[in-house]
This record gives sequence, structure tokens and C-alpha cells, in this order.
Amino acid sequence: MITSTTGPQPADFADVRATNLAVVLRFVREHAPCSRADIAASTGLNKATVSSLVADLIDRRLVRETGLTENRVGRPATMLVLDGSPYAAIGVEINVDHVSAVATGLAGERLLTWRRAFSAGGSAGQDVAAVAAIVRRVVGRMARDERQVLGLAVAVPGLVDVQGVVRIAPNLGWRDADIGGDLAKALRDPGFTVQVDNDANLAALAEQRFGARAGAADLVYLTGEIGVGAGVILDGRLRRGALGYSGEIGHVQLDPDGPACRCGRRGCLEAVAGIGAILRRDLSPGEIPVEIEDTVRAARAGDAAVLATLDAAGRSLGRGVSVLANLLNPAVVVLGGYYVPLAPWLLPAVRAEVADRAIAPEGGGCEVVASTLGLDAAALGGAARVLDSVDSGRLPGGISRIS
Ligand SMILES: [Zn+2]
Repeated sequence: MITSTTGPQPADFADVRATNLAVVLRFVREHAPCSRADIAASTGLNKATVSSLVADLIDRRLVRETGLTENRVGRPATMLVLDGSPYAAIGVEINVDHVSAVATGLAGERLLTWRRAFSAGGSAGQDVAAVAAIVRRVVGRMARDERQVLGLAVAVPGLVDVQGVVRIAPNLGWRDADIGGDLAKALRDPGFTVQVDNDANLAALAEQRFGARAGAADLVYLTGEIGVGAGVILDGRLRRGALGYSGEIGHVQLDPDGPACRCGRRGCLEAVAGIGAILRRDLSPGEIPVEIEDTVRAARAGDAAVLATLDAAGRSLGRGVSVLANLLNPAVVVLGGYYVPLAPWLLPAVRAEVADRAIAPEGGGCEVVASTLGLDAAALGGAARVLDSVDSGRLPGGISRIS
């Protein structure tokens, strides 16, 4: 039934208040310690509104007063900082041979980092049960620390549509799997949201929030695993495309006569510059870390064949990055995963190719750097996505005070 009404509805007021609470929370996150007057001056909200919003945030234990005051002309102002002590955000990354879990506090401080062996390739149902068992242990640990879980975001190496359904995750053997829904069921309605996203997307969010170039509005993260995918942040926002499948740079064809790719085509970026191509053999995921160490050792020792392989891979990777530079004009492209230990040998070739192939002067200002977040960047990005939800207004409320 359609009713016509005049004036704003209660829902509108609630929306405005949630939006304003988020505005104040973000301001405190970025500028703490800060006073109520600082918030009013910078946000344009009037002082009474700010006082009411801050009281609400203090009540939700998202913000607290420090007890410190700032000496100003006139009355001293009580300073505010993020609280968040009763909360945690959880990110989980599912890989072929392991699951990583990261929990952070509201300010992004790391509370827990776990890596557990995991063997994908049963049914998606069995895999979900195994992941749910790990999540339950993380949630249990947070509960013992008297922290309420704000949300869980799960990173999957595969195509995840905008609804969060995993369409294809070739290395996990999943197809059309509603992992988020199944996980929520396996966790028996856990009281927090469960989101699922592509691993490169979440790693890009981790870089944007926690990386060496945190705050960059135009950033691309490249996964350096057997597969190569891109998480694309433009104008400050993750760009998923119409159905959620953006960023498949790994299957841009660089050489029509190149080696066969896992996707069935030839000469894709990941077939010429993925970790499998660099290590030059078919490896089980568990063998990769050892092989990478061997490669690094050989490169350090000046092994000519290994140096030539890394240079060739770096050039191919650079051709891929130059596609990104020409198309998206990112300020920074972050190489992640196993590209990180190989970066001293890959980066010079990558940068030379980008400078050579980008039409804009100096690669359009595109810097290429190695990630500083380690192999669990996507799990950390899961926590970042949960924090992003809080920052955009999905605030926890009505928690019972822990006395
Ligand atoms: Zn391919």
C-alpha cells in the first residue's frame, strides 16, 4: 500500500541521526584527541547536536573522554578519543591449504592473528563447517576478552558477486556457493553480519586503511599467488563493477602464443607472471613458501638463470600494471602475497615497463610498491570492511555494560 505523507518520517530522523553519529565517529577516529567544539567547527553540526551525538557514542562505548583537557581561551575542553574496548571486528581468509583469521579492535589494533591448516576440496558444506569451527574459536576468544563481535568478513580467492555469492572459486572447487549464508547458519545465527568478498578486494581495503599508503584514494592491490587478481579502489571507494567481477587482471592476455592459463586460455598475465610462472613448475600450495625462499636465496647469490626469470616475470607484470595505469590512473599499485619477498628483483622491471607503456607522463604518477601487510592482508581487510561498515553508520547499540 502506498500512503502519501507530508514531512519527514521517523525513519528519516533515524537515518539522519545514524549518519550524523557516523560523521562524528569518523571525525574522532581521524582527529583524536579532539573536543566537542572541534567536531562542531569541522562538521558544521551545531554544538547541542554534537553533545547529544557524543553522549550517544559514549553510551555505546565507541568514544570516551580522556580526562585530559585542552587549554584554550575560556573554558577548558574535555578531549575525546575512540573507545571500542568492548568490540572486535573479524576477518577470515580462506586459502587452498590454510585459513587465516584476524581480529582487530575499533581503532584497528590487532587483537589476534591465527593461521590454521585447512584442506579445501571437500564439498563446500564440509569446507564451511571447517571454517565455522575456526570462526567459533575466534568468537569464543573475543567473548573471553569481553568483546562483542561487530561483524565478520570472509575473503575468498574467486569470483564473488555483489550479493556475496561465490560464483567460481577454482582452487577451492566451489561454484555458486552462498558461503556467507551457510556460514551464518553453521554459526547458528551469531548476532553479527557475515559478509563475503573477493580476496583482492579485501586486501585493497586493508591497504587503504592500514598499509604504507593508507588513505590513498586511488589504489590497486595485486594478489601475488598462483592466481593474480586486482582489488581496485578509485575515488576512495572499492569498485566492484556491475556484478562484482572487476579486477580480473590476471586473465588479461599479454601473449596470444604464451603458455596455457588455468582458465583455458593462453598467455594471460597470471600464466606469464603469476607465482606458478615465476617458480616454473606446478606446485601444491604447501610447497610454494619453500620454493619462494629458494628463489630468494638464488637471486641474492646472483644466480643468472633465476635473475633472468625474475626480470622476465617483472616485465610481464609491468605490462599488466601498465594496463591498470592507462585505464585507472591509480596513485599506487601495491604488489601483495608472494610478490613481496621477490619485490627487490621484480620492482625495477615492473617500474620500467610502466614508465615505458603508460601514455601519461611518468606513468601518470603511478607508484608501484610492495605490500607491508604480509600474507594475511586479505584477512586483515575483512576486519577493515567490518570497520568500514561501522564508520558508515552501522553502529552497535544496546550492548550490556560490562561491570
Ligand atoms: Zn587466464
